[in-house]
Amino acid sequence: KMANEEELALANAGKDENGDSIFGKIARKEMKVDLVYEDDKVMAFNDINPQAPVHILVIPKMRDGLTRLSKAENRHKEILGHLMWAVAEIVRQKDLGDFRLVVNNGPEACQSVYYLHLHILAKRQMKWPPA
Ligand code: C5P
Repeated sequence: KMANEEELALANAGKDENGDSIFGKIARKEMKVDLVYEDDKVMAFNDINPQAPVHILVIPKMRDGLTRLSKAENRHKEILGHLMWAVAEIVRQKDLGDFRLVVNNGPEACQSVYYLHLHILAKRQMKWPPA
């Protein structure tokens, strides 16, 4: 079921960590993005500062306390599965081939936006370990 604008606003205006975030504005369609995929629960868009020829961010439409992955609770299991499924759907639809999936959790991991997001990086040779 499609959540309405008011529900989205309430869900995203969290008081924890950085309060509202840029991805909340994006989820509420208050900010234009280069949309790659959207359904009732998640959306994906091109990163404005790409770290690979393809760099897509996948976010839940409702943050619902998921400022970072380590905040995940029982109620988030469904959306977390949906986000991972959306990654598979996007890489198939866009025929991305091999890719890297990244979640930065907290300052030491270089998280800069406190609204859960998955980075899909593709179309270049990756290195391991990552820097
Ligand atoms: O994992 P981290 O929090 O560092 O990632 C945030 C990502 O969001 C960055 O890759 C940054 O380029 C991207 N971003 C964006 N559009 C914005 C703000 C940040 O694509 N308006």
